[in-house]
Amino acid sequence: MRTKMVAGNWKMNKNLQEGLALAAELKQQVTNPTCTVVIGTPFIHLAPVCELLKNTPIAVAAENCADKEKGAFTGEVSAEMIASTGAQYCIIGHSERRAYYHETYDILREKVLLALQNNLKPIFCIGEVKEEREAGRQNEVVKAQLEGSVFNLSAEEFGKITLAYEPVWAIGTGLTATPEQAQQMHAYIRSLVAAKYGQTVADETTILYGGSCNEKNAKELFANPDVDGGLIGGASLIAEKFCSIIAAR
Ligand code: PEP
Repeated sequence: MRTKMVAGNWKMNKNLQEGLALAAELKQQVTNPTCTVVIGTPFIHLAPVCELLKNTPIAVAAENCADKEKGAFTGEVSAEMIASTGAQYCIIGHSERRAYYHETYDILREKVLLALQNNLKPIFCIGEVKEEREAGRQNEVVKAQLEGSVFNLSAEEFGKITLAYEPVWAIGTGLTATPEQAQQMHAYIRSLVAAKYGQTVADETTILYGGSCNEKNAKELFANPDVDGGLIGGASLIAEKFCSIIAAR
């Protein structure tokens, strides 16, 4: 049985005190989840949030990592540094990183490798923009994203990856993919993994849906056989909403 997961992505929200307060609320409320729960926080929150959530069912993710191991890269944060905070996951390839920070397939491939070398589990994001969906090109786009950055991995390495299908037109827009659109794409992604690594690896790959997933639509989205959970942006900033989404999984 593959892992079911609800992961939050706080993005560039919450100062340190606000972030700790949210983490403390979640610590109180998420006591016995029936799925893996992860929160993705800004870098500066990682160490104190990990400390606060030690021995709880909530794991912590960075939202990014450097594509270099170490050295003269002012302002960057390496996978090794992230792992040293106690974080266990790293979101890589979010559409905002691809679009605003020009992260290419090659850069993302390096980030995934460095995360794995440092025992961080990548949550690797893929998804098409609106124009690509309108042109019916969504399948070819996600295929290229997988081939460009993660299909170089061995089956063993790939087994440590969680995929997140996030149609860019649905992120932060209130436009959610329909349950049918999500299921269709997740099944297609799983078929690509099966073709590359075999059916067993494909059956064990966790594929999250992300894009305006909230406490109202989560249950319907998660009811699909190939939708293993969600990567949640806006709704992960409010404990009550995030907890409802966890309960829907
Ligand atoms: C995200 O940024 O990963 C995301 C899914 O955002 P939102 O839930 O706000 O659409």
